[in-house]
Amino acid sequence: MNYRRKVMIVDDSPVNRMIVSKILSDSFDVIEAENGLDALEILMNQAGSISLIILDIVMPVMDGYTFLESYSSIPQAGNIPVIVATQMDSEQDEVKALSAGAADFITKPYKPEVIRHRVANIIRMRENAAFINSIERDALTSLYTKEAFYTLAAEIIEHDPTNLFDIVCIDIENFHIVNDLYGEHEGDMLLCNIAQSLDAIVGSVGGIVSRFGGDVFAAILPVLDQLQWQEFVDEFQTKLKDQHIPSNVQVKYGIFRASDRSLSVRAMCDRAVQALSTIKGKYDVFHVYYDDEMGMRLKYELELASDMRRALSEQRFKVYYQPKYDLITEQIIGAEALVRWMHPEKGIISPAEFIPVFEANGFITQLDSFVWDTTCRDLRRWLDEGKKPMPVSVNVSRIDIYNESLPDILESIIHKYAIPINLLRLEITETAYVKNQQQLVRMVNRLKRHGFIIEMDDFGSGFSSLTMLSETPVDVIKLDMSLLANRYKSERSTSIIRFIINLADELGISVIAEGIETLDDLEYLKKLKCRYGQGFYFSKPLTADEYEKLMDAILMQPKDYLPKQAKTAIGSAAAEQSKGEMRSVVDAQGRQLDALTRLLHLSTFAEAAQKRLDECPDGNTLLVLNLDNFALVNENYGQKHCDDLLRSVAAFLHREFREDELISRVGSDEFAVFVSDGMPCESVCERMNGVCKRMIAQIGVSCSMGIALSEHLCAEFDVLYSNAVQAMREVKKTRKNGCAVYGKLGS
Ligand code: C2E
Ligand code: MG
Ligand code: MG
Repeated sequence: MNYRRKVMIVDDSPVNRMIVSKILSDSFDVIEAENGLDALEILMNQAGSISLIILDIVMPVMDGYTFLESYSSIPQAGNIPVIVATQMDSEQDEVKALSAGAADFITKPYKPEVIRHRVANIIRMRENAAFINSIERDALTSLYTKEAFYTLAAEIIEHDPTNLFDIVCIDIENFHIVNDLYGEHEGDMLLCNIAQSLDAIVGSVGGIVSRFGGDVFAAILPVLDQLQWQEFVDEFQTKLKDQHIPSNVQVKYGIFRASDRSLSVRAMCDRAVQALSTIKGKYDVFHVYYDDEMGMRLKYELELASDMRRALSEQRFKVYYQPKYDLITEQIIGAEALVRWMHPEKGIISPAEFIPVFEANGFITQLDSFVWDTTCRDLRRWLDEGKKPMPVSVNVSRIDIYNESLPDILESIIHKYAIPINLLRLEITETAYVKNQQQLVRMVNRLKRHGFIIEMDDFGSGFSSLTMLSETPVDVIKLDMSLLANRYKSERSTSIIRFIINLADELGISVIAEGIETLDDLEYLKKLKCRYGQGFYFSKPLTADEYEKLMDAILMQPKDYLPKQAKTAIGSAAAEQSKGEMRSVVDAQGRQLDALTRLLHLSTFAEAAQKRLDECPDGNTLLVLNLDNFALVNENYGQKHCDDLLRSVAAFLHREFREDELISRVGSDEFAVFVSDGMPCESVCERMNGVCKRMIAQIGVSCSMGIALSEHLCAEFDVLYSNAVQAMREVKKTRKNGCAVYGKLGS
């Protein structure tokens, strides 16, 4: 003890007071009170500074017993130890005093050494106890602290090997709303009440509770069955209701069953917290048990986090571009930049896996800057090469929104590469709008003032209110792909899509649908008057190289029309296919035809073929024919000759195939035929070999033909088509002039 503690002597005898004062004054400060009442008054003002009280029992005005009964109700006085001074022979007094709460007693006449040691010992013991208590107990709620909980829970588990225990982490989700609404003091009071309720309920089933910090609590309880658990949760919920907590403040439980007793309690709590984190923000899930998969997931995420910086410096993140289309003209209108991680051991990792990890640890800001920079650098190169690039949208994480300097960062990148601002668009995900609407609206406004075009990503995936659209000045809405994917499952999806499209239309906002995977998706969206879209049906995300090739192909197109890119938009096939000029016309039955040959346009062809496949999945054949050396014909004989030749091919195909077999010109020198005659593979080959031979004989050009046969397991037009194209390319590569069946190449 290196500072002087204060001792209060309460005795009606001035002589006694003087004696004790003298004994203690070398080591302590002393104050004196004449009786119990006098002492209480002193405590009212100075309790915090008094370390010990020496109390006489028999006094006028208020005796020692009455004082003992009442002093502990004075704030900060309850912990002050009291030593009672009794007569040498009064054992009865001693017992009575001790049972009334005195810490010890001394007897008269006083022995100075005994008194000094007793006083010093009691003060030290009491201070140690108070110190231990402050480590053990949380100051606000008096629940066990985390460290104390770890120790006590470990003891409970160790001393009760027969029972199984659950470690439960409890989060009061959105508790900050209480602080925001009523202030911190109210928030603290409420936390104390919650703690008390929790302590009582957990205590009643034989467990203990701790406050881990903030609004997170942990408890250890004997395993409860379903019913008991429900009772537990209901009881707590009822108590919370009594506290008038706002309804969006919800209690969430993450539970770890402590069947492996060798784990430390800290590790058990970590797992419970981890389980808890998987239901954070899910408004309809309240409790979750930890399982091993979560452990693997955590390990995987830790690996990603430990590799991320090196990956960025070693340029393992690559930017892909997924084209966006005008659904009516089927022209490319732009692209979205999407990042991929080329991991040396794990292979290509999808952003869906690592973006959430990076959002949690903050690395996303660096990665996003990298993606924006790369995109602008690519745009600059394309501009320099005269490719007339279309706008590219980059994703802006909701974390970036909190960064006040976001507009400056983006602007500096734009300036660095001298990119016209309309070429870099920003996609902001809808969840960002939900979480912190005001901040977001402010940021969107600032970005717009800088001249950026803003697209609201994943619209319809969260709980955003549609009225928000009128407040947030976005230019484009991107319909979340789940709406399209769920349209057969839920009628509501269609209503929602229709509603969003109409509303957006009224507000002058464009709509882009995400995740168009099939012709059916496309037709469905067109019917709902959705103008723009993006999805695997048109093209997967492409490497910068592939996307450049696509742009090259577009540059070679006449301005007003572009043929559908279909699946072959991926890579060079798109370039090959779209070189020639193809105008379309609509015939009397409303079908789209190629203006030159009057054969079916690919979209009509695909739709009709799919219909037949739906009706009868087996026994159909899809042929793709590509004329050999057509480029040479073009160079040597010119456009007119080429046109004539293409018309002759069309006429030839009409002769070769029946009236009801579908024939299409799918690219400048490429044709497709859909045959449903139920012939076996051998017969099909024989027949098509004949077609190839007659073609050379009758019109003087050869073709390479790919054949894909439908079967029950594969009756998707898109799949058949890309199989046939692949088979056709095989023929082209190896020998030209002839045919091959997909899956039986070389025949
Ligand atoms: P998003 O911005 O909504 O991007 C669209 C996602 O849908 C992309 O997934 C894309 O590959 C995928 N997709 C496109 N068409 C289809 C389709 O027809 N069917 C299906 N099933 N999926 C399709 P991806 O590339 O895996 O990206 C996932 C999400 O990761 C993105 O969703 C975006 O939120 C985020 N992300 C991607 N790149 C970045 C980035 O550079 N920065 C940030 N902050 N987020 C990114
Ligand atoms: Mg996006
Ligand atoms: Mg999206």
